[in-house]
Amino acid sequence: MSEPSLTCDALLRRATVAIAGESPRLDAELLLCFVTGLSRTGFRAWPERQVTASEARRFEALVHQRACGHPVAHLLGEQEFWSLPLKVNASTLIPRPDTECLVEAALGLSLPPSARVLDLGTGTGAIALALASERPGWQVLACDAVAAAVELATVNAGRLGLPVAVVWSHWFESLPPGRFDLIVSNPPYIASSDHHLGEGDVRFEPATALIAGDDGLDDIRTIVTASPEWLSDNGWLVIEHGYDQGEAVRDLFLQAGLAAVETRKDYGQCDRLTLGQWPGRG
Ligand code: GLN
Repeated sequence: MSEPSLTCDALLRRATVAIAGESPRLDAELLLCFVTGLSRTGFRAWPERQVTASEARRFEALVHQRACGHPVAHLLGEQEFWSLPLKVNASTLIPRPDTECLVEAALGLSLPPSARVLDLGTGTGAIALALASERPGWQVLACDAVAAAVELATVNAGRLGLPVAVVWSHWFESLPPGRFDLIVSNPPYIASSDHHLGEGDVRFEPATALIAGDDGLDDIRTIVTASPEWLSDNGWLVIEHGYDQGEAVRDLFLQAGLAAVETRKDYGQCDRLTLGQWPGRG
């Protein structure tokens, strides 16, 4: 029997069939880049390029894991967010492109040049690091209740050379006292009964980063209710939420006494984040 061909083209074709799913060709290309160090344009321009037998074995092992459902980001150990390469692992959520809408909303606010900023439940550090990369004058603090996520976000800040302090805290519970000009969060917001939890990449992400009680609002409720104690006068709260939670989240913001409350959409035109401003006790 002849050996299977070890050209990039042949490997990618076989992998694309094996992976199936939503974006099999892209997934296969990303895994082949990872193993060979070649770029995607590299093997498009030169599909007949041979890889070594050991590269092919490593690639096929990754393809097998992808075909079993493991997220590409976990296999590569990295995911890009806001053009920043972030280390990822199974301790926390894989950053989603739609969360960049939250970063854009935060950057669009009128805030002091040395604003004090807090990212609650930072995970990989994605939001905090994106903000710090855009606003070098901001003092960004990030927290997470999962120790492995605190470590991951700290590693990401160090690799990127961005001055984000990361501390362990379950929402506001263990934070040093103080007030912030901006509080951002992408908390868990999926209802425990949501059928999406059994499908696709989320099966490999921790429940702590995804699920928030029967209606998906438990953590958002906790954060919004406490936020007036942590916001400076005229400070802003910006929270990501589910596509069908806009009205409920706006109600929570209004009940907490926030003003200028508004819901914005994500890249897919779904309600995805709500912001509001704390006017002070007056
Ligand atoms: N948007 C993510 C999803 O639907 C959930 C993120 C979150 O719970 N914070 O998979």
